[in-house]
Amino acid sequence: MNGAPAVPAIDDTHDPALRSWVAGANDAAGDFPIQNLPLGVFRRRGRPEAPRIGVAIGDQVLDLRRCRELRLLDAPPAVVAAAGEATALNPLLAQGRQALRSLRRAASRVLRADGSRAEPAALVPVSDAELLLPVEVGDYTDFYASIVHARNVGRLFRPGNPLTRNYRHVPLAYHGRSSSVVVSGTPVTRPRGQRIPEGGERPSFEPTRRLDYEVELGACVGAGSLPGLAIPIDAAERHLAGVCLVNDWSARDMHAWEAQPLGPFLSKSFATSVSPWVVTLDALAPYRCAAARPAADPPPLPHLACAANDARGGIDVTVEVWLQSAGMRRRGLEPARLSRAAFRDMYWTFAQMVAHHASNGCRLRPGDLLASGTISGPDPDAAGCLVERAATGAGTLTLPTGERRDFLADGDEVTLRAYCIRDGFARIGFGSCSARVLPASAAVLDPT
Ligand code: CA
Repeated sequence: MNGAPAVPAIDDTHDPALRSWVAGANDAAGDFPIQNLPLGVFRRRGRPEAPRIGVAIGDQVLDLRRCRELRLLDAPPAVVAAAGEATALNPLLAQGRQALRSLRRAASRVLRADGSRAEPAALVPVSDAELLLPVEVGDYTDFYASIVHARNVGRLFRPGNPLTRNYRHVPLAYHGRSSSVVVSGTPVTRPRGQRIPEGGERPSFEPTRRLDYEVELGACVGAGSLPGLAIPIDAAERHLAGVCLVNDWSARDMHAWEAQPLGPFLSKSFATSVSPWVVTLDALAPYRCAAARPAADPPPLPHLACAANDARGGIDVTVEVWLQSAGMRRRGLEPARLSRAAFRDMYWTFAQMVAHHASNGCRLRPGDLLASGTISGPDPDAAGCLVERAATGAGTLTLPTGERRDFLADGDEVTLRAYCIRDGFARIGFGSCSARVLPASAAVLDPT
């Protein structure tokens, strides 16, 4: 393992006074100032070329393949080679946090206004870039780390006893489906599946009537682990590269029928959307905060606890959900905000999720995606999915057009956003994770 501290440190790349020669990066309200430098994968539009790695900077993408050709990156040769040659982030993430930190420093130096490396030829306007899935996701695990969400959902099924007795001890999760992880902008087709009408005797097979979103953050595994070996909690963050937005699309009626007694299967596996940019753990260093577990709660078992996690295991990220219906688009209305919640309120931290995941010897591999679970807060406008609204008293959603929603309708476009704000530091954002719901399709694969 490299010598990087588990929780990253603040350094000169976070200096709020830094400016870039890329004008669009100096907008204080933008997601991608020079203090952020998230990683993604793109292709220049209209060109039959291999995907390449890029860094978001303002309204531009710094093309790392071009940077390598122009010898702009001052980083170890293996890092420059992976950054310049790979067609997904995996080979870069696999090199671990130290490698990512050296790439961050190199990109920061290339993009600084006071530097001598200004090279517009290394930029691609984001409008000319087709943003692709940043990581080839090997395994996808979805946790359940918000105690507010767990309580709200539990209340719908067990009003007298909403939280299961294991909740405060085990970071609960299910294994998701990596083959249907798609990048923001990819439409989501309403799935068909089995549901049982209320009071009905027999199930039917039909398009889901209860399609929902779940706003989450996902941690991308960097350096992997070895089969049979656990990851100590105080080293857990060394295995994480960065964080993206995740929408865990869910068919509630299919879930209610199929998950007796096992976990979600087809009600989740039809689609999971992720944002195109991975915000590195190094970029998030200024926004770290204490873990949210109240001191009065039972302490976690020793393999899930350490002082560094208590003090800085949390991340202060604000997450939002926006919705624009087809009717709103027709009338030229902007998306409406459905929720805003704080990731710092999550009961379990990413470090605890990693340590728990590997505690039985399960191997984590570079590019594995560990999603947090729905991010909800205690306020009625902080429910991270539609099904929770009933439990919070928020009730049926009414859109600016007067349209009402208990669940998503065809044509609805759901957009997730997230950002970090802290006094004395730059605002950084995650961009967006957006997808439109298409009607159920009758198409089947033609075996011929
Ligand atoms: Ca979920």
